[in-house]
Amino acid sequence: MKNAILILTFSLLLPACSMFGSSNNLTPFSDIHLHFNWDHEELLSAKEAVDILKKHNVVFASVSSVPSHYALKLKKAAGDWIVPLITPYYHAGNRMNWYFDKKVVTEVRKMLESGEYAGIGEVHLIAGIGPRRDNPVFVGLLDLAKEFKVPFLIHTDASTADYFLSICSKYPQIRFLWAHAGGVLSPAQLEPLMHACPNVWLDLAARDPWHYGFFAYKDYTLIEGWKELIIKYQDRVVTGTDPVWNAQEMYRWYEADEGWAHYTKFQNFHRQWMKNFPADIEKKLRLTNAKRFFNVK
Ligand SMILES: [Zn+2]
Repeated sequence: MKNAILILTFSLLLPACSMFGSSNNLTPFSDIHLHFNWDHEELLSAKEAVDILKKHNVVFASVSSVPSHYALKLKKAAGDWIVPLITPYYHAGNRMNWYFDKKVVTEVRKMLESGEYAGIGEVHLIAGIGPRRDNPVFVGLLDLAKEFKVPFLIHTDASTADYFLSICSKYPQIRFLWAHAGGVLSPAQLEPLMHACPNVWLDLAARDPWHYGFFAYKDYTLIEGWKELIIKYQDRVVTGTDPVWNAQEMYRWYEADEGWAHYTKFQNFHRQWMKNFPADIEKKLRLTNAKRFFNVK
């Protein structure tokens, strides 16, 4: 029943996406934080997701999925402008305990060897849940990124940047995308890490102003300190929409994920806060930095 309501909501919201504007009047956009999970596919096909991206003039994107191989579905429906990443969640059932699953490293290696993926991630390290930073499965993934020379999209939720500092400084060869700029950290906390780890790029992925959009006010002006930080590291900041719905409820297995139905709102949030910057910097944030990160023309 709930799914039926969601499907209805979804189909009502889709026309809103087209009302927002065709790709003709939107500037091109790189979205480096997409998800296309099994519980998204219950509501829309890969082709329908790609159509939403095209309507919003997304010209480059990276995607991670649960299970991992669902990312290939989006690439297949779109073409080479979507690059798939490998999550450790090679089957939907290990999302909560992947770091105890000894098969993860072997499975990720196989996927890297297939040559179909552009990197590893999103990998979630949640303080109080896990894994520890010396967890053998997590370390195994870092070693694979080093061996295959691929980037790593890492999500950390910790109250201090030191938590990630110990990782990025230990693996200077790995280029990290730091999801949601580390969670809830302030510019004053982020600056020393950005200075110490030139291999880290800030991923300002946020779904809206209230879920990881902690760097902007509701009127899209930037919270104190953020403008200066972004200008200082303007060549290492990217963003994305992270189209997951009500993620704070953690793994809403009991109903499908309607996140893609809100894509217009998510992307609009990013387009708006970027207007705080001069055109050359806005273009880096919106488009070119993401392509440079993945070495795409
Ligand atoms: Zn995400």
